Amino acid sequence: MSCYKIYPLHLGTITRPKAQLMATDKSGAVLDIPILAWYLTDGEKRILVDTGGLEPDGIHFMPYVRPESQRLEAALGRLGVLGADIDMVILTHLHWDHSGCLGIFPNAEFFVQRAELHYAIDPIPAHKNNYDLQRIFSVDYTILDGDTQITDGVSVIFSPGHSNGHQCVLVDTVDGPYMILGDMVNLMEAWTAVPPVANGYHVSLLDYHRSFQKLKHISAKVLPGHDPEVLKHPVYPAEENGELGIEDKKGAFQ
Ligand SMILES: [Zn+2]
Repeated sequence: MSCYKIYPLHLGTITRPKAQLMATDKSGAVLDIPILAWYLTDGEKRILVDTGGLEPDGIHFMPYVRPESQRLEAALGRLGVLGADIDMVILTHLHWDHSGCLGIFPNAEFFVQRAELHYAIDPIPAHKNNYDLQRIFSVDYTILDGDTQITDGVSVIFSPGHSNGHQCVLVDTVDGPYMILGDMVNLMEAWTAVPPVANGYHVSLLDYHRSFQKLKHISAKVLPGHDPEVLKHPVYPAEENGELGIEDKKGAFQ
């Protein structure tokens, strides 16, 4: 069985009402939250889950803050990884803040759910600004229909609700399975609430409810999609002394 390390990549910061992240929130709070991608490696395979945002000043998309150090290439570079090194890119969904930068992975196979791709082509008008079709169709996809094992130790779990073809990613580690939740769950608080709370942005609350029921039956540690707390650890499973496993990883790549 492959055991992966999971590195959260901080690719910019967006500012949103908390109610957009948790539909039941009445606090009026406004949060600065990270745009995240996740680099997975078992020492051989190099996999990316999501790819961060489009250019921060894109006129059709929501502005956000992304210093040079938080560009995807820079974040991967600090781990000793080039875009050309990436074997697989798994997209939780195709919203602009999860599917930017697709052009820097010439050797990667891209995975997306069929339902997500179809909806991106013809969403309702209120959802149109979340999809940059030119960028999305700049690469070819391996199209998935539901739960699928991508490779040994990495599977996707179909979980519509936030978007029509959203998928979470289940990853085997030495500490057991971890689940990358994408925008299904933005904050840990939304996941641990009873019942769990949907994102304020969604295509179907009924689908959301069913996806929650499905995911709650999976025994795994979870990594929410926009929670600043996940950046407390540079790698998962978190190492006790707080040190990165980068030295090991670099060794494995050389
Ligand atoms: Zn989204």
